[in-house]
Amino acid sequence: MTDAQQQENPRLQRIKSGPLKREADTVLAMVRIYCHAHHGTKGDELCPDCQELADYAFKRLSCCPFKEEKPVCAKCKVHCYKPAYREKISEVMRFAGPRVMFKHPILSLEHLWKSLTVTPPEKPRGKPKKVTPIREVPTADNVATKGDHP
Ligand SMILES: [Zn+2]
Repeated sequence: MTDAQQQENPRLQRIKSGPLKREADTVLAMVRIYCHAHHGTKGDELCPDCQELADYAFKRLSCCPFKEEKPVCAKCKVHCYKPAYREKISEVMRFAGPRVMFKHPILSLEHLWKSLTVTPPEKPRGKPKKVTPIREVPTADNVATKGDHP
C-alpha cells in the first residue's frame, strides 16, 4: 500500500452503480450498524477503524475479478480478504446481519453474509449437486390414456 492509493481509485467507480453498488451499500449499512452500537457513532459517521474496514471492503469489492457476474461470495475460490479484515468483517456481519434486515430489507444481505461466514470448498466440484426433481404430476393427458375403461 502506498500513499498513491489513497487517491480515488478509478476502480471504485465500479461500485458506484450496478450490482456491485448494492453490495457496497450492504457492507456500509452493516458497518454503520456495528459501529453505531459499539463505538457510539451516529448517522453517517464511522469511527476511524470502521471507516478503514469499510474502505477496505469497497476496495475488495471493486477489485472483484468476477465483476458484475460476481457469484455468491460463498462459492468464490478467491479469498480476497486479508485474514485480519476477514475476521473483522465477519464479526460485523454476525452482529449487523440480523439487524440490517429490518433497516434495509431490500439489500441482499444473506448473499453477502454467507460469503464471509461460510468457508467455501477449496476446489470446485465437477458437477453441481443435482436437485431432486419434483415428482411428475400426472396430467389429464397421461391419466386418460392409462385409465381402465368401465
Ligand atoms: Zn466503529
